[in-house]
Amino acid sequence: SSSNPSSPSPAKGGVENVVIIGSGPAGYTAAIYAARANLKPVVFEGYQVGGVPGGQLMTTTEVENFPGFPDGITGPDLMDRMRRQAERWGAELYQEDVESLNVKTHPFVVESSERKVICHSLIYATGATANRLRLPREEEFWSRGISACAICDGASPLFKGQVLAVVGGGDTATEEAIYLTKYARHVHLLVRRDQLRASKAMQDRVFNNPNITVHFSTETVDVVSNSKGQMSGILTRRLDTGEEVVIEAKGLFYGIGHSPNSQLLEGQVELDHTGYVLVRDGCATTSVEGVFAAGDVQDHEWRQAVTAAGSGCIAALSAERYLVGND
Ligand code: FAD
Repeated sequence: SSSNPSSPSPAKGGVENVVIIGSGPAGYTAAIYAARANLKPVVFEGYQVGGVPGGQLMTTTEVENFPGFPDGITGPDLMDRMRRQAERWGAELYQEDVESLNVKTHPFVVESSERKVICHSLIYATGATANRLRLPREEEFWSRGISACAICDGASPLFKGQVLAVVGGGDTATEEAIYLTKYARHVHLLVRRDQLRASKAMQDRVFNNPNITVHFSTETVDVVSNSKGQMSGILTRRLDTGEEVVIEAKGLFYGIGHSPNSQLLEGQVELDHTGYVLVRDGCATTSVEGVFAAGDVQDHEWRQAVTAAGSGCIAALSAERYLVGND
């Protein structure tokens, strides 16, 4: 269906049809659609997440909620499949980070340390990074007790029926705490300030939930382990008294926000006050014609693999329409 005669042809005169930046579910899905539309997309996969392409899911084990995998699939396996699917349809993949970008003039210019690519349209799918506390033992317990995604990990056997903790005082942290009470025996909410920043409605839900204990003026210092090397608690410090207290918990969830990887677009494309790329409601269209954004870099709300993939599809189909109109 995508090879209709009005589809734009592959690159002419050294100007590519479309460059895609990012190799998460958004980038690869955009690549699959753009390649099948015969646009010969050029993909800069990047290696900012753990030094490999594939995005955030490369840092996780089981993905249990991506449709089509009833028995679950590991993050790296899922991303490898998306990558192969993009490659099969002819996407040109480069494991390079884009270092600079100019979308102020048309055609656009995209540069890595290895090459400079000129293109008519651009799909920006660089994802977001969960903010971390940088606790001394964070690396040791990442994915083995510490997580940045309650929706992804809350129901895992590691955490089910256990006492858990969430750090943060805004909407993300309170939502995570409430979500986790579905699976956890009890949830401690560790709040640095002496009040919550979350909306009044969320605060009411937290305070009215008997399975959540809120600890104000509490700094999260580190995690502690038992003799088997498993995470067993959280070392906290009371900011008013200086007292150090270990709160027993098998898991710690970060609810301290995400940072969109939108640095390259700063000053060129409209971003919101927290750095997320602004797109038109339900579309991938940004403030610059021919520049589309997909995935977590434009989504501070849902942040799921399937929503990222969906928006990558929208971005590629939008780019195709844009190019046809411009042909
Ligand atoms: P990302 O996956 O963040 O990928 C962005 C890509 O852009 C990366 O490949 C990066 O290297 C690249 N990039 C960035 N800057 C540049 C640059 N300058 N040049 C070139 N490339 C660049 N979601 C679920 O639905 N189910 C789950 O079970 C689940 N588990 C998760 C577990 C963990 C530990 C984490 C962190 C997230 C999890 N998520 C899960 C969320 C999911 O991973 C994200 O919503 C999804 O990956 C977002 O996709 P994306 O394509 O927007 O971006």
